[in-house]
Amino acid sequence: IALNQSNLSHLPESFVRPTYDRSKLKAGIVHIGVGGFHRSHEAYYTDELLATSNSSEWGICGIGLREADRKIGDVLKQQDYLYTLIIKHPDGQIENRVIGSIIDFILACDDSSAVINKMANKQTKIVSLTITEGGYHLNPVTNEFDFDHPDVQHDLANPTSPKMVFGYLTAALRKRRDEGLPAFTVQSCDNIQHNGDMTRKMLLAFAHKQDSELAKWIEQEVRFPNAMVDRITPVTTPADITTLRETGVDDAWPVVCEPFHQWVIEDTFSNGRPEWEKVGSQFVSDVTPYETMKIRLLNAGHSVLGLLGSIHGHQTIDGCIADPLFATYLRRFMDIEATPVLAPVEGIDLDGYKSTLIKRFGNPNVKDNLARICLESSAKLPTFLIPTITENLKKGGSVKYAALVIAAWGYYSDKGTDKNGVALDIVDAMKAELHDAATGTANDKLSFLKLEDIFGKLINSETFANEYSRQLDALYTNPDIAHQMQVLIEE
Ligand code: NAD
Repeated sequence: IALNQSNLSHLPESFVRPTYDRSKLKAGIVHIGVGGFHRSHEAYYTDELLATSNSSEWGICGIGLREADRKIGDVLKQQDYLYTLIIKHPDGQIENRVIGSIIDFILACDDSSAVINKMANKQTKIVSLTITEGGYHLNPVTNEFDFDHPDVQHDLANPTSPKMVFGYLTAALRKRRDEGLPAFTVQSCDNIQHNGDMTRKMLLAFAHKQDSELAKWIEQEVRFPNAMVDRITPVTTPADITTLRETGVDDAWPVVCEPFHQWVIEDTFSNGRPEWEKVGSQFVSDVTPYETMKIRLLNAGHSVLGLLGSIHGHQTIDGCIADPLFATYLRRFMDIEATPVLAPVEGIDLDGYKSTLIKRFGNPNVKDNLARICLESSAKLPTFLIPTITENLKKGGSVKYAALVIAAWGYYSDKGTDKNGVALDIVDAMKAELHDAATGTANDKLSFLKLEDIFGKLINSETFANEYSRQLDALYTNPDIAHQMQVLIEE
């Protein structure tokens, strides 16, 4: 049967489904970027809250800013905004849960004023974001807003018909101010350190350029809570859809995730918030140690396995962990390079956290594809991996495990294939620059490291340049990366 509101009572008994009255929900949350992660995380927590307490003002209206979001909008609309969350446990058990917290969706490129009006609506109290790292228009070297992007230029010139996120936020906040409405909270759920502070900085930079009076109002009125978010959510595969159909339920775009989930949020909101703490999220005054721990262990761990594993020919994260060499290498990187430059985290046993992480990565039912892990590496590595290297260099710590990852990334960008010559599916906004710099390796060993937008001043460290060159030589002499990993573990 097709998944929709009227069929909810006909779903297989094992399916958890919304029992709350969805017709009474108001969209207190407008969410930009309805990808897999929003649907497995914020929408899941909110669904759980709606199911267990009277919180009907906290329904979610999804927004897609890009043409590529048309499909999710069409699917959700056809299913009355319902979808199945397929929670895959490591022991093979599968929980199917229909999520009901999303109640509407607007595609911005079809109707930009509908989006601005929705965000400026009195009911809207939070605008949350999962727009990927690239959506923030940060220049990683200057650490400032990147005004050069054509969409940014467009939005500065066209304040009432924007294209990018900060254009929309500015337009909606202007409308609220002019109408005497309180500001909404802007809540980033992207994997970025101090995601709230970053969003604030980027929004204010953009708003200042467009309308400095408005920027002052935003500065005073809008809160941007920092948050640490976690739940591994791989891309849905056709097999996931087929397997679900075998249970009798036709869902055109379910979401797959692991059972683990974590959301640590700073408790600073402009205009009220859902009581997500009732359903397992944690409100704290400072999220810094939690997010640093997660970004430098989980996200960096993903990049370590993703880049090394891609060259080796592994396909998925669990496939890497099933290979003892990769599991050992990852643990070494975590213990010897990542942990010594992490501050202690209150209430967290780091050893236990790392062991749980390796178990989560090894979940054979969560086939997290390495191509997804490696996408937009140029936006990820500057926060996930480079700070660990920089801080170890300052303290005289080890950098060899991370250096091989950078060398592997150079090889991957140069050749575009694994060690056996099989083409890799590389998606990166900087793909051409990465490739150009990496192909320069033949004439200048440090050519790839000269990408200052990514590596900053790393090249000026003689220690790092030497370690990187050593790994690069080894890899270009013998692309069997497993051999080089073994050498590092044994030396
Ligand atoms: P996805 O590809 O399923 O969805 C990405 C969403 O971001 C889409 O809605 C897309 O339209 C939107 N988007 C991309 N670039 C944009 C831009 N420039 N402006 C506006 N919107 C843009 O990806 P996902 O798995 O949902 O991941 C999204 C983000 O969530 C990640 O980048 C990460 O920061 C965070 N996250 C993901 C996971 C995970 O396991 N998937 C875990 C933790 C955090």
